Amino acid sequence: MGSLDGVAETVLHRRYLQQDEEGTIVETPDEMFRRVAANLATAEAQFGGDVEPTEERFYEAISNLDFLPNSPTLMNAGTELQQLAACFVLPVEDSIDSIFTAVKQTALIHQSGGGTGFSFSQLRPEGDVVKKTGGVASGPVSFMKIFDAATEQIKQGGRRRGANMGVLDVTHPDVEEFITSKSDDDVLRNFNLSVATDAEFWEAHASGDAYEIVNPRTDATVRQATPDAILDEIAEAAWETGDPGLLFLDTINEHNPTPHLGRIEATNPCGEVPELPYEACILGSINLGQHTDGEEVDWEKLRDTVHLAVRFLDNAIEMSEFPVPEIEEMVTNTRRLGLGVMGFHDMLVDLRIPYVSEGAVEFADELIEFVHEESWAASRQLADEREPFPEWENSIREAPMRNATTTTIAPTGTISLIAGCSASIEPIYNVAYTKHVMGGLDIVNDRFVDMARERGFYSEELVEDLHGWTTIQNVERIPDDVKRLFQTAHDVPADHHLLVQAAFQEHVDNAVSKTVNLPQSASVDDVKEIFLSARDLDLKGITVFRSGSKPEQVLGESPLK
Ligand code: ADP
Repeated sequence: MGSLDGVAETVLHRRYLQQDEEGTIVETPDEMFRRVAANLATAEAQFGGDVEPTEERFYEAISNLDFLPNSPTLMNAGTELQQLAACFVLPVEDSIDSIFTAVKQTALIHQSGGGTGFSFSQLRPEGDVVKKTGGVASGPVSFMKIFDAATEQIKQGGRRRGANMGVLDVTHPDVEEFITSKSDDDVLRNFNLSVATDAEFWEAHASGDAYEIVNPRTDATVRQATPDAILDEIAEAAWETGDPGLLFLDTINEHNPTPHLGRIEATNPCGEVPELPYEACILGSINLGQHTDGEEVDWEKLRDTVHLAVRFLDNAIEMSEFPVPEIEEMVTNTRRLGLGVMGFHDMLVDLRIPYVSEGAVEFADELIEFVHEESWAASRQLADEREPFPEWENSIREAPMRNATTTTIAPTGTISLIAGCSASIEPIYNVAYTKHVMGGLDIVNDRFVDMARERGFYSEELVEDLHGWTTIQNVERIPDDVKRLFQTAHDVPADHHLLVQAAFQEHVDNAVSKTVNLPQSASVDDVKEIFLSARDLDLKGITVFRSGSKPEQVLGESPLK
């Protein structure tokens, strides 16, 4: 087994390790890795494969932290729950029956560790008629509050509260209320929000025309709106609170592998998996920092890990139990996988490529193209060994594949803490800081410490001094080339965040969860510019985060001398 640091031990003890009925922890981290590997390997038997050698290979990969599946797999594989997916999308239609069915399904999914996304665009607007009662409708935002309250009350087996993505189409009559709904801190706390846009909206924007706001119940146009003015409102709300983001549904649906099954209108909570209603996705992330020799990429090892990870995730689909029968059916038909990467910044440090450089964007492109191509090769091999996904013949995939999609970029918020690596494709947050979750986790960047030792500028005092600062760029004691390698989220210009996101999006089947960080001093126009660039770059979605715009952001920004 690889070495787990103190942060990983804390996270595993608090959230992941099995407990008995009294709440006493009954497994070690090593036993957890064994439980997961053994459970996932049993699927081999159904396809005439070898269970034991596969279990060993799964165990090696996850216990060495070369690859980790999403949290629900670590928590639930080989347990009574056996629900392994993190990402779900549920349908919400314009009836009380459908809305409250979705609330119930959401509760079941949250209880099992998953997150849910919904399009609320079909709900009739506030003030519209309700025939049955002769009353007036309360509109999507008021119903979202019910999902939010249900989420608030259901702790996922006492481990974490659920997460939701709420999507509303830019043509919905309540879109403005939706845009500003999170300006009050207490409202929709368990939701991320995205406004869905389509080609028509962007064409109207380009030509300076108005677009139509339509009642989804009657299809009647209720008024005209100006795209640019709506974008201003979205940018202002996002500047203030981080929400909403934007979704580009036309781009998403151009890449929908199974258009005959329907149009995609929503994503999971963090945006990395656009899905049809009742689809679910099991994620896994390769720890890139474990795939270098300290200076160069170990491409052979990376190839092996990709192939193993695709097998692991395909087995996970086989082994997972889903809380709703419709989900079981959809998942079996499309077998969507979400393999991604974490530790991208760590890998760049090993390669001596500064995150903020053209070289980093070029390398991102080369790297993810490789991961993507290999993951497709692995999925094709599995289609030979097993069978193509049942909807393959009607899909847009030319050669038989086992999975409608293979790749995605997830945030890896918790699994990167277990792996002790930089999260996802994000720049590091800092070289030393306390993360204010689970009683406070002290995180120190190992690569920075190693380099400081090698270059002779290490001292405990230095690490203490740096603690909590969001940049090290003006610390005189640190050589310039080292500073360049450890640029933080705070140091990375917004344009560059976008270029990194675009490089990854270019090759992944699903989407990229990426936070475009902005300094506190950024303007509403800066946010709008980012939205426009995101559209130009053919992204599937965009989220911004302005430093200090949310109360929970507690770390200071003052430079350290
Ligand atoms: P992890 O590191 O725990 O595996 P990520 O941060 O990569 O998870 O998030 C991946 C996806 O998992 C999210 O997009 C969302 O669908 C789901 N997810 C994350 N956090 C939660 C949560 N608190 N509740 C429910 N689902 C979550």
